[in-house]
Amino acid sequence: MAVMTHTQNRPSVDYRDLTPATQQRLDQILERADNTSDAGEYNSLMLGVAALAGIDIAYGGEVLRCSCTCVCPAVFDNADPDARTIEESCGFNLPIRQCPPCADRHPAPDLD
Ligand SMILES: [Zn+2]
Ligand SMILES: [Zn+2]
Repeated sequence: MAVMTHTQNRPSVDYRDLTPATQQRLDQILERADNTSDAGEYNSLMLGVAALAGIDIAYGGEVLRCSCTCVCPAVFDNADPDARTIEESCGFNLPIRQCPPCADRHPAPDLD
C-alpha cells in the first residue's frame, strides 16, 4: 500500500492502477470536459472523472491527469495547494498542471 509522504495533500491515484475500461472512460470524459463551453456540464463531467478515479471532490472541483513531461501516471485533485501550473491552456478548459510530487521534484518554470 503506497503511503503519501505529505499527509496534508489531497488524494491522488495512479492511472495505471485503473482498469483499461476505466482509463478509456476517464479519458473520454476529460476530453469532453476540455471542449465543453457549458460550466455546468464541465462541473458534472468533473464529478464523473472523480467518481471513476475514486477521488472525492466537491461540485466545482477538478480532477486532472498530470501533464508533466515525465509522463507521470498521477490523477489528482486540482484543489491540492501543491499542484503547479505548467502553462496556460489557451482555448481549452482543462488546466495544464503538474501533480504535487512532480511540482516538488521537478517544478515547471514560472510562467512570468
Ligand atoms: Zn506528476
Ligand atoms: Zn513529472
